[in-house]
Amino acid sequence: MPVITLPDGSRRTYDRTVTAAEVAADIGAGLAKAALGAKIDGQLSDLSTRIERDAALAIVTPKSRDGAVDADALFLLRHSAAHVMAEAITRLYPGTQLVYGPPVEQGFYYDMAFPGGKAPSTEDFAAIEAEMAKIVAENRPFTRYEMPSGEGMKKVQGEGSKYKLDNAQRACDAGSATLSWYATGTPGTNWEDLCRGPHVPSTGRIGAFKVMSLGSSYWHGDEKSDRLTRVYGVAFATKPELEAHMKLLEEAKARDHRVLGKQLRLFHIDEMVGQGLILWTPKGSIVRQELQNFISEELRKQDYTQVFTPHIGKLDLYRTSGHFPYYRESQYPPIVEPEQMNAMAKEGCSCAELGNRLEKGEIDGYLLKPMNCPHHIRIFASSPHSYRDMPVRLSEFGTVYRWEQSGEIGGMTRVRGFTQDDAHLFCREDQVAQELIGCLSLVKMIFGTLGMNEYRVRVGLRSPDSAKYVGDPANWDKAEEACRAAARTLGVPFSEEPGEAAFYGPKIDFVVKDVIGRSWQLGTVQVDYNLPIRFDLSYIGADNQAHRPVMIHRAPFGSMERFVGCLIEHFAGAFPLWLSPEQVRVLPISEKSEDYANELLAALKAKGLRATLDAGSERIQSRIRAAAEEKVPVMAIVGPRDAETRKVSVRLHGKAENAGELGFDEFVKAVAEEATTRGASTLAQRMLA
Ligand SMILES: [Zn+2]
Ligand SMILES: [Zn+2]
Repeated sequence: MPVITLPDGSRRTYDRTVTAAEVAADIGAGLAKAALGAKIDGQLSDLSTRIERDAALAIVTPKSRDGAVDADALFLLRHSAAHVMAEAITRLYPGTQLVYGPPVEQGFYYDMAFPGGKAPSTEDFAAIEAEMAKIVAENRPFTRYEMPSGEGMKKVQGEGSKYKLDNAQRACDAGSATLSWYATGTPGTNWEDLCRGPHVPSTGRIGAFKVMSLGSSYWHGDEKSDRLTRVYGVAFATKPELEAHMKLLEEAKARDHRVLGKQLRLFHIDEMVGQGLILWTPKGSIVRQELQNFISEELRKQDYTQVFTPHIGKLDLYRTSGHFPYYRESQYPPIVEPEQMNAMAKEGCSCAELGNRLEKGEIDGYLLKPMNCPHHIRIFASSPHSYRDMPVRLSEFGTVYRWEQSGEIGGMTRVRGFTQDDAHLFCREDQVAQELIGCLSLVKMIFGTLGMNEYRVRVGLRSPDSAKYVGDPANWDKAEEACRAAARTLGVPFSEEPGEAAFYGPKIDFVVKDVIGRSWQLGTVQVDYNLPIRFDLSYIGADNQAHRPVMIHRAPFGSMERFVGCLIEHFAGAFPLWLSPEQVRVLPISEKSEDYANELLAALKAKGLRATLDAGSERIQSRIRAAAEEKVPVMAIVGPRDAETRKVSVRLHGKAENAGELGFDEFVKAVAEEATTRGASTLAQRMLA
């Protein structure tokens, strides 16, 4: 007799097993009609899934409750569209073998092996889309059927595709007792694909789709294996959503930080230095330093203390923290001391043996630090603490290194070395709630100053029935409630995500929307009960006893690399004056006003402003154009008449006309004020006043 708990907490009891679709219909005809799938105990499932036991159920519709496009709905739509595309392509290109077709962040793809040189080109997309449209118009149901794995393997063997056989074998190896297929229509009659699902109820629910591009890939990502064609597509619930997406892609292209970063010389990635390692050029360094100054100032106001720690640490440190050897795949290999290395070389020791001894702890080495926490923990542990000095807030722009696969890196968003806006708060149990609020108010302040007012937070909680979590459940309850309460104080949308907590504590993630509406997942605030135990941290309480502190890890902007990459796109390279590498460009109209221009330049520099003078031989119009292309926020144009009257003609970035005139001193003062107030008072406001 399943009891179904709905997202609002209400319950429905059934005297028989029910499908998610039936529950949706019981709730209302509108919901049943909109439903694309279901989440059963957090697991995304087909609407036709039969529920036999008590379960938490959420019906997935194209729009989630806050009106945003629902990520689960997109997943279902895209995965379903991948099937439709695969059917269309195998119809148009007989003999095509399907390999693997998952939904991805921006849409979906399907890796395919086309028979000898018959792969489609971009000109064939229209034909593929037309074929897909037919399948969608037929509105065939996605029908799941299963077989026990032995029988299923026989079926797949009979079909003769080594790729599908491999997929099936992997499912069995992973412990799956059954194999499942989805037929687009009737099993045995219509097209089908080996697939775990889930899918939307029928092809007609794919409201809009588009074949986007072609790429190449290798089977299992292995360059020595078969070369495959990857066909990318997108799918949405409605046409306007697809249109909006296409427009967004166009705008995003114009704002791509990799392109703008090069054009504006903000950062450089150099083959000789290494992939995924960002070189901050002088201009980009200014942006980063200004941001760091800003964040540091706010941290000081909140009684954080700054620390510096080295870029490497002993393996034992990471054995204690648990980072080694468990996260080995995402780390650079250890560094071994020269004497050790020489001694082992003399023994004729192999690399495998070296790895073995490192892992067993028979020899020690160093790790490029994958996280700053262990270093900060050792600072905390280096002196005794009383309950009166808690919390201890240690902050560092700490650089860490992670090993990312070379295919995954690019620009500033996926890198191998990055600097986190990191801090660790060591606090008493009763201080967790207040500290979380402090972390979040800091983030709110900084986002506000940057004009990023649209953001949301995700609160990652325990999954209801899991024993993997460390720490006292009662403390967890308190910490989870503290996370919720802190998220509420922000006054921005937040979602609770059961099962998304780390095993060591709940967390809060930030997702910011840039001006063109794209979401950037930035950093996080995490409560941690685990590391204080692993490092046996303590403070002396009012009762004179040793107590375990709770740690909060927080890097709300993620990394300086990612954050600046995001800001480049957010501002389309035209930074606000306080962040701009070059704040003012002084442009004398002719040689006659050069002395006056130099005087103005000196006055701006004396205020600490980043100003330059362009007295080049080019005509004034082309020098204005050059400044505009370099996105300098303010141009100060001075002619002989200005020199006489001691005025400055002001032109602001993005405007075709001069904003007006200001007196020499007033101009300098206004620019300086805009810089020091970080845009709270602007030159533009003054010109309008
Ligand atoms: Zn599938
Ligand atoms: Zn940490």
